[in-house]
Amino acid sequence: MAETHGFKAEVQQLLDLMIRSVYSDREVFLRELVSNAADALDKARFVGLTRDDLTPAAGEPGIRVSFDADAHRVVVEDDGIGLTAEEAIEHLGTIARSGSKAFLEQLAEGASGPKLIGQFGVGFYASFIVAEEVIVESLSAMPGAEPIVWRSKGQGSFSVEPGARRARGTKITLLLREDAHEFADEWRLKSIIEKHSNYLPWPVMLGDKQANKAKALWTERPSAVTDADANAFYRSISNDWQEPAARTHVSADSPIQFHAMLFVPAARPWDLFQQGVDRGPRLYARRVLISEHAKDVLPDWLRFVRGVIDSEDIPLNISREMVQKTPILSKIAKNVVGRLLSDLAKLDREPEVVEGSEEEPKENPYPGIWKNFGVLLKEGYYTSAEWREKLTPLLRFETANGDDGALKSLAQIKEAMPEGQDTIWYITASSRAQALASPHIEAVRSKGWDVIVLTDPVDEWLVQVLETYEEIPVKSVARGEIEVNEVPEADKERVAGLGTWMEGLFGGTIAGVRSSGRLTDSPCVLVDPEDGVGANMERILRAANQAVPETKRVLELNASHPLVQNLAKLHELGRHDVAEPIAHLLLDDARLMDGTVKEPAAIGRRLQALLTRATEQALA
Ligand code: ADP
Repeated sequence: MAETHGFKAEVQQLLDLMIRSVYSDREVFLRELVSNAADALDKARFVGLTRDDLTPAAGEPGIRVSFDADAHRVVVEDDGIGLTAEEAIEHLGTIARSGSKAFLEQLAEGASGPKLIGQFGVGFYASFIVAEEVIVESLSAMPGAEPIVWRSKGQGSFSVEPGARRARGTKITLLLREDAHEFADEWRLKSIIEKHSNYLPWPVMLGDKQANKAKALWTERPSAVTDADANAFYRSISNDWQEPAARTHVSADSPIQFHAMLFVPAARPWDLFQQGVDRGPRLYARRVLISEHAKDVLPDWLRFVRGVIDSEDIPLNISREMVQKTPILSKIAKNVVGRLLSDLAKLDREPEVVEGSEEEPKENPYPGIWKNFGVLLKEGYYTSAEWREKLTPLLRFETANGDDGALKSLAQIKEAMPEGQDTIWYITASSRAQALASPHIEAVRSKGWDVIVLTDPVDEWLVQVLETYEEIPVKSVARGEIEVNEVPEADKERVAGLGTWMEGLFGGTIAGVRSSGRLTDSPCVLVDPEDGVGANMERILRAANQAVPETKRVLELNASHPLVQNLAKLHELGRHDVAEPIAHLLLDDARLMDGTVKEPAAIGRRLQALLTRATEQALA
């Protein structure tokens, strides 16, 4: 005898929504049913741990999806725990699921239903998105249970009557609505299973073929995962044909249970610097895919990282957007990012040659990772203060003493510092050649000290926050007053008067003139003021079409240089007819050396005048 029951008001409200509306992601119904089937299998397995009188599964426990295109039917069957009549009435007539409740609450607040369904996962009731009638045949695994049939058209009521099912588990038959006939199709069903349920830990059979992998690789012990399996998995989620350059696999049980498997690609993805690209790891909660690209979980500068995060502790009763912001997930992310960065730091080693091994030792992958993604790690260093400590060992630099392209860590740079060097020096420039030709580095280099050569625009931001390394100051050779080269007092005094006169001559186009402690061979150099935008930063900002106020720079004179000494004498003798054009040309020269010339024609005219004079004197 069929008993008829009314749906609870809130269930009917949900069902009306499913029936009435047209959804863009209707395929989620299958994800929901397959997930429920997997849960039922999990439960049977769990209950079976403590009692041995459960009705056994008919065969190897699993999930079977089948279809009948002519009859417009899709069937999802499992060998799980099953439902008694009471359970069916209880579970398939009310809303137990907190996700569905939250969904209805959001609706009450005016959110748009169609969009929300895919995100919340409304569970069993999602069947009615595609079905005009749903029939549930079930036999509970509990000893002595009677088989039942639950059926409903989703309109106000459902019926429950005795059934004929012999094997434990549940078979759910969907009689498809006319506008959903397309789902009774092998290819369609297979692709939905692959997309949403590929890594459910139970096999999902479609006909006699397994449609999913049924293996959540990331939930295995990290030491048990082979490179080959991990690489194949990486390829399946990344569409990258190359092997990843690095992998981090974390499995934790407490305080938060999660698994994470992250990969660094071997090449820089072409869209790395494009806006609006979906990025971020796949996010699974209890093996169910919540999001293919979880946003805001990893910091933006790790946007090149691919992989999976999976946790039992992520609440499923909130929307996808909210899931990505739960404190649990940010704790997981923090842990995973920390591990990823420490794993990367361990990579930069010469490959071990295993005695007697046939295998070629693997190349050290870190230089390649730095080449592809170093610019983003630098961005991270600048933007994420909390990660600086972990990022410091990952930084690599070219230096003036090293070969073109040779990279050094800060530790190596520190290690190579001779006695007497108490500062790590760097220079920023548009190119290595420009940096090496710059007068700024000459005194530092004449002492045998190395200079970090920075040529990437992001470096200007990096050095704003990279102020020290293990308590050693990190400083620009081009900024402020520095005393590397000791200039005799007498020389300094001679130049003092010249400086004051030149300042007057240049009339406020520069910040000042002073004796330099950073030169050996060049007569003069322009330096950045202690505070304010440096010349290289100014160049970068201008290239990016940003309005930048021009920073006035300081002209430093090499008081020991014959040209400067001669000029000082001419000034003392009052020979300003000669001293003036030469003083101007000195400033021109400094500008030429660091590429900040604004009026080349004016320099040309000054040079011509001076050359005319020199030739006249030679002939006199
Ligand atoms: P949830 O799965 O979040 O609890 P659903 O609405 O999807 O919410 O399902 C409600 C309940 O119905 C489940 O908790 C479970 O008790 C029962 N159920 C659904 N599908 C099955 C199934 N295939 N086998 C056994 N029980 C099921």
